[in-house]
Amino acid sequence: MKKIALLGATGSIGNSTLDVIRKNPGCFEPVLFSAHTAIESLVRLGKEYPNACLVLTGKSQNVPAEIHRIGREGLLWAIEECAHSGVDIAVNGISGAAGLEPSLAVLDAGMNLALANKETIVMAGEIVFMKAREKNVCIIPVDSEHSAIFQLLRAHGKENLDSIILTASGGPFRTLPAERFAWVKPRDALAHPTWNMGAKITIDSASMANKGLEVIEAVKLFNVPPDRVKVVLHPQSIVHSMVRFLDGSVYAQLSKPDMRHPIQDALFFPDKGEVSFDTLDFTSLTLEFEAPDEKKFPLLPLAYHAAKAGSLYPVAYNAANEEAVSLFLEEKICFLDIARIVEAVLQQDWTGVVTLEAVWEADKKARACVYALKSSFPDH
Ligand code: NDP
Ligand code: MG
Repeated sequence: MKKIALLGATGSIGNSTLDVIRKNPGCFEPVLFSAHTAIESLVRLGKEYPNACLVLTGKSQNVPAEIHRIGREGLLWAIEECAHSGVDIAVNGISGAAGLEPSLAVLDAGMNLALANKETIVMAGEIVFMKAREKNVCIIPVDSEHSAIFQLLRAHGKENLDSIILTASGGPFRTLPAERFAWVKPRDALAHPTWNMGAKITIDSASMANKGLEVIEAVKLFNVPPDRVKVVLHPQSIVHSMVRFLDGSVYAQLSKPDMRHPIQDALFFPDKGEVSFDTLDFTSLTLEFEAPDEKKFPLLPLAYHAAKAGSLYPVAYNAANEEAVSLFLEEKICFLDIARIVEAVLQQDWTGVVTLEAVWEADKKARACVYALKSSFPDH
C-alpha cells in the first residue's frame, strides 16, 4: 500500500484523486487531507479514513474537534510529519499560488510530488527542480497535457525531440465572435464544453490563460525553449498532447477527457495502473485540429512573452491573471479586462534572479499593480 497525502482534497483534482484511490482498493492509504473552506467535506473524509490527519488551511470561527491541524502553518507541519510516517507520494491539488509553499514542503520532506498545481512550476520551477534533485525525489506532472508529454518522452526519449505540441480545447468561447467577448458573464465562462474543473482554471480555459500557463509549465518542466512549445486547438480533448521528433514523426497520447487518467498514472508511477475509466471507440471518433486565434485570445501570446523573458515575468503573469480572474468572478471587471490587466502588468520590469524571496516579492507587487490598475477599468 502506498501512503498518500492529498492536498486540496475537497476540489476537483482532490475528488478525482479520491475516486482513483477508491477504485484501486488495497493500493493506496490516504494519511493526510487538506481543505481550505469545505469543513463538512473534510470531516466526511475523516469518517471514511479515520487514520488520516485532517488539515483546514482557511480561517473559520468554529473548527470542529475532528480537525487535527489548522492554518497554513498547520499544513506545513502535517506535511513534515508525513515524512516520519513513510508517506510515498503527495498529490498537490491546491489552486493558485497558495500551492507553491506546500509543494516545496513536500519535496523538503523527501516525498514524491504528483503535481496538479501548475502555479508551482510557473512561479518557481527552477527552485522546485533544484529541491527535488537535492532530495532525490520525483515531480510527476498531473496536468493532463504534461502528464501526456512526460509519458511520451519516457517512452521515446528526448534526444531527437523537435517540439512539444500542447492541445487546447479552446474552451466555451472558441467559436464566439470577438465582438461578443465584452459581454460575457462569469456563468458563460464557467460552462466548459469538455472538462469539469474548479472555477479559476475554468475561467483560464475560456481566456486561454490556462494554455498560456501550460506553455510556461512545459518550458520549465521539460527544459525546452518557448518557440519549441506549440499550441494547437483540439475541441474534443481526446489527444492530450503530442511530441514531434526531428525526423518528422509525431507521437500522441489519447484518452477521454477525465483527470482520473493522469492522476492514476502519477499515483502508480513508475508502474502503470490497471483500472480503465473508459475505452475510446475509434469507430465513432472525430479528431479536429485548428490554429489558435492569438488576437482573440491575447493571454496566449502574452504567456509566450513571459516565457521568453523568463526571470520573474512568469510570476507576474500568473499573479496578475489570478487577481484579474477574481475580479472578473466578482463582476468588477469585464472578461476582456483580464488580458488588458495582464498586458499592462507585464509592461513593468520583472527582471531579477529567481530566488524564493524574489518570487514572493514579485507575486505581491504584481497583485498590487492589478489593484492600482483596476480603477482605470469601469465596474460592470
Ligand atoms: P478547485 O478550486 O476545484 O480546488 C482547489 C482546492 O484547493 C480545494 O480543496 C480548496 O479547498 C483548496 N484551496 C483553495 N484555496 C486554498 C488556499 N489558499 N490554501 C490551501 N488550499 C486551498 O481547483 P482544481 O481542483 O480545479 O485545481 C487545482 C489545481 O490543479 C490548480 O492549480 C489547477 O490549475 C490544477 N489543475 C486542475 C485540473 C482540473 O481538472 N481541475 C486539471 C489540471 C490542472 P476548499 O474546497 O476547502 O475551499
Ligand atoms: Mg491542462
